[in-house]
Amino acid sequence: MLDDQALMWALNSTPVVDGRRQDLWRDDAEVDRWAREHGGSGGGLGDGLADAERRWLRAARDALQVVESGEPGESGLRRVLAGVRKVPQPGVSGIEWHVEMEPERRLAVELVLAWADVKERMPGRLRPCENRECRLFLLDRSRANTARWCSMKTCGNRLKARRHQARTRETP
Ligand SMILES: [Zn+2]
Repeated sequence: MLDDQALMWALNSTPVVDGRRQDLWRDDAEVDRWAREHGGSGGGLGDGLADAERRWLRAARDALQVVESGEPGESGLRRVLAGVRKVPQPGVSGIEWHVEMEPERRLAVELVLAWADVKERMPGRLRPCENRECRLFLLDRSRANTARWCSMKTCGNRLKARRHQARTRETP
């Protein structure tokens, strides 16, 4: 199972830099690095399959971003999960559940499963940054669950400064 950090890294792979949305995963080497760090092949599956692994990962990430932005993205998720089966395998200590799918799709499916796991373990904790010009997501682990920005340092301070400016402008 991918950890929360792996999920957040994937969700936050399209940051806004200088006012423009960048896609770090457009770069094959960048997707491959993420894949290798999280148990994928990262280009090691051979030519056609390596491309397929990247395509599945991008598709899974895109669909998760859409859903987390509050828009309907279920069809994207459905495509990634289509035909995936959970199969029981008996062993000495009982039954183990194995998720079955093609090797090139495995990591993308694990990404969606990691997201589903966060939604179940930490309901309402994963959300987009409140700065509408920011494309990052945050996972709020605070007790109060009141975090609004991906980072206080960047978006938090920027919005506070802007609000302050707006207030001083309104003052005659
Ligand atoms: Zn932000």
